[in-house]
Formats: sequence, C-alpha cells, structure tokens
Amino acid sequence: MPELPEVQTTVNGINTYLKGLTISDLWTNYSNMSGFHTGKDHIKDPKFFTYFKKQVIGRKIQQAKRRAKNILIELDNDGTILVHLKMTGHLMYGTYVFDKTDKKDPWKGVFPESLKDPFNRHIRFIVTFSNGKYLALSDMRKFAKVTYIAKDQIEKTLHLKDLGPEPLDPLFTKEVLKMRLLKRPNGKIKTVLLDPKIVVGIGNIYSDEILWRAGIHPERIVKNITDKEFGIIFEAAQETLKKGIDFGGDSMSDYRNILGERGKFQAEHKAYRKTGTKCEKKECGGTIKRKVIGGRSAHFCDMHQK
Ligand SMILES: [Zn+2]
Repeated sequence: MPELPEVQTTVNGINTYLKGLTISDLWTNYSNMSGFHTGKDHIKDPKFFTYFKKQVIGRKIQQAKRRAKNILIELDNDGTILVHLKMTGHLMYGTYVFDKTDKKDPWKGVFPESLKDPFNRHIRFIVTFSNGKYLALSDMRKFAKVTYIAKDQIEKTLHLKDLGPEPLDPLFTKEVLKMRLLKRPNGKIKTVLLDPKIVVGIGNIYSDEILWRAGIHPERIVKNITDKEFGIIFEAAQETLKKGIDFGGDSMSDYRNILGERGKFQAEHKAYRKTGTKCEKKECGGTIKRKVIGGRSAHFCDMHQK
C-alpha cells in the first residue's frame, strides 16, 4: 500500500505535469461494481459519478496537495478531486488508447513506454485533458477511492476526518510525536505508529524501516519508551520518510510514479521483507526476523532493536 513517500511522489508528479490542464472528459468502470457502493459519496456509485462529471468537466487543475495518504487535486472552481490509492492504486499521466474489444481493461498505455508495465494496465478511472493526454488510475484490487469535495466542504468532509498530524510538517517536533504516541500508552510501538489517528502516512514498510533505524523493538510498549528514545524515533522517522521521497517511493509492490515508473526505495530496505538476512547495521551481527504484531507483519533485527 502506498505510504506518505509514495503519495507525495505522485503529488509532486501532478504538480510537475498537470498544472493548468483542462479536464475535457471522464471515464470509469468502477461504477460497474455490484450494488455495494450504491448511495456512497464517491465515483463507485453511478449517481455520484454523474454529479462528479458535472463538477469537474471543463475545470482546470490548479495544483495538488497531500493530506495523510490522500491526494487532493485542486480545481479552478475551488473544488477538489480527492484520490486515496488504498492497496494497489497509482495515478499515471500520458497517452492512452481505448480498445473496445477488451472488455476488462480497455485502456492501453501508449506513451511513455513505462505505461505498458503489467502493473499499470488495470485502468479503472480516466481523466481526459484538452491537450489529448490522460490521467489514468490503475488499481488492480479496486480498493481505491475517487471523490469530489466542493469548496465549502474541504474543512469538514468525513473523507479527511480524524487524521493525526503530518510527520514532515515543520511544526511536527519530537515533543509532538511523543505526545501523540503516548495517547496509546499501552500499545506496541509498531502498532501505534501505523495508526493514522496518532500520526499519518506511516504504513508497514516505513514503520519497519523507522524502528530498524531507531534500534527500537517493534513490540516495545509506548509508555516504557524513554524521552531520549522518542527523540531517536523522531529523527529516524524524518530521515526514513524523506529518504523514501528522495528515492521516488517504494515499488516492492504495485506503486508506480506519474510516468508509470518504479520508485527505488525497495532497494534501501534494511528490515522490511528481509527475513533471514544478516542485519546491515555495522558490527551488529543480528538477523532480521518476522513476527505478526497487531495483525501486521513486523520485520526487525533480533540484536540491535531493543
Ligand atoms: Zn541489527
């Protein structure tokens, strides 16, 4: 699942390639899904998609922002397209053709070449621009969410409710992190880091990498973490998330950037899915173990993470 660095990489890509483009048409096959989504306020409901089209077609893209793992595409009517990539979603920009003989995946990426990657072919949602190019959402598992938020709703929408602070916000300090984590004093640090009500944007990959870097065992109980250790976790979180962005996100799974290309952070993993390998920390000598904690796989060094 895309985490903060992947979503930020996509937002940066939208700001590079899509600013000022006018939306001329929209397409989705999400609304062919069973009645499960009927009445919901996102485009999997056919009625909502009709409303969505009315709000969005003819509008220009102003800029994109990120809040937690949500992509917020601001339009020139002050409305916002919100996209949550969920498990397997990623947005791509380029040239596409529609092959009506392919009922399942009719949209085919043409240019750039990277759009032809098999992970990029599950197109569920298409934005057509007046320049003849497209923004496409590939989403193999179909869990992604696309919706529209009118300008006076952005502060109160339920889609952005109950979110904790942004870990890379300049106002986010070691003290804020400590205060947030201590809202779950009896929780295990791995589990609490994953809770978007506590702090947003951190999923399974980055929580493993942050705790490896910090030398903290994923099962440490939050109330037993020392003040000094909170500082170390804070620094590790800053460095790891920024590194994720610098490497263009993590493509161990489906994630691809706006041009359909893989990120490179997966080559930097020290713990996540490194089970059985020797710890890379200097003179550690430990081995990376895997253990299910709070229903999620945690990967950690059995020596230096305490
Ligand atoms: Zn180690």
